Amino acid sequence: MTDLIDRFLHYVTFDTQSNPSLSSCPSSEGQMLFAQALKQELVELGLSQVKLDQNGYLTAKLPSNQTDAAIPTIGFIAHMDTAPDASGKNVRPQIVEDYKGGDIALGKGDEVLSPIQYPDLHRLIGHDIITTDGTTLLGADNKAGIAEIISAIAHLIDNPDIPHGDIAIGFTPDEEIGRGADLFQVEQFGAQWAYTIDGGPVGELEYENFNAASAEIEFTGISVHPGTAKDKLVNAMTLAAKFHAQMPENETPETTQGYEGFYHLADANMSIAKAKLHYILRDFDTQGLQARKAYLEDKVASFAQAYPKAKVTITVTDSYSNMKQMVEPHPHIIEIAGEAMQNCGITPDIKPIRGGTDGARLSYMGLPCPNVFTGGYNFHGIHEFITVQGMQQAVNVIVEIAKQTAIRYRNDN
Ligand SMILES: [Zn+2]
Repeated sequence: MTDLIDRFLHYVTFDTQSNPSLSSCPSSEGQMLFAQALKQELVELGLSQVKLDQNGYLTAKLPSNQTDAAIPTIGFIAHMDTAPDASGKNVRPQIVEDYKGGDIALGKGDEVLSPIQYPDLHRLIGHDIITTDGTTLLGADNKAGIAEIISAIAHLIDNPDIPHGDIAIGFTPDEEIGRGADLFQVEQFGAQWAYTIDGGPVGELEYENFNAASAEIEFTGISVHPGTAKDKLVNAMTLAAKFHAQMPENETPETTQGYEGFYHLADANMSIAKAKLHYILRDFDTQGLQARKAYLEDKVASFAQAYPKAKVTITVTDSYSNMKQMVEPHPHIIEIAGEAMQNCGITPDIKPIRGGTDGARLSYMGLPCPNVFTGGYNFHGIHEFITVQGMQQAVNVIVEIAKQTAIRYRNDN
């Protein structure tokens, strides 16, 4: 077993599930225990400036092995928590070596990983596949990223002939509950740009994500005893249902893909007197998101006019923005990652993220931060898996990104 896989299998023994109902950072104690273990490992590796702050953010530096000061500091980032959607406690991985195709029994076989359900498996014949035992998630999201980053750093230390500049690494808490970037100290991290190693299958390279907002629409009705309600009662729930029925049917998450945006009714809270609809709005285009907000505002205004006895209000809140605007002005960030993949025999698969990432938030905090693959699949559930080969390729790409950055910016070029 390689150091890489040993690391990964050790990391998944920590239960680091984040908890959205707690406001502390990190939101669970397991994350801090994991951070402390990682800190120890980074110290033993000989990294400098190893720092674990009280919020559970762990950072360290691998100093440059070049005399050239012109080489920029780059960063690699991964998150320590696992998703609240499935348990991350008592993770018992199995490794299926040299996968021959067909179903893989998970644990005692109550659950299977099937290529019928997950056709990606067809492309992984001959690979060594790490799965769960069918009772928990695996935690490849994002402990594979952590194992890959640390293994790449160890490789650079063991191979001083590979040129690299200063490399900052950062492991963050609570990404899965949307808070991973909240207390990240960008300035102290000291990188000019970074990569989150938090993507899926080999080749994934992402620097576009949704622009996101939410809209809270509130209908205030009039509650009257049903026996004497004629011409008096205004049922807020009926209004809310009518409103939603008029929303564009083909602009929902279940009817869109790729670069298409949507309106999504994510939550509702209703009584006769008051009904609240909570929509999330997503669009890759900034103007597109503005248009979606305007559409809802207009619709609320005309609804209020049509039902003068009711009160209808809307509150729109911005959530996050497409990192493309922050990354595109620095094309070398994507070029270097693309080149690194190609040098490792991997065709970059650039696609938009239909969500947000910590990298997007960090990009707006001054640290442009696209996302690179880990080699994993089916995150956040019991069918999560990753391949040994994919993980090794991620390590190769991280090493190559460090090397290409040094070569590109060396003055002797
Ligand atoms: Zn992740």
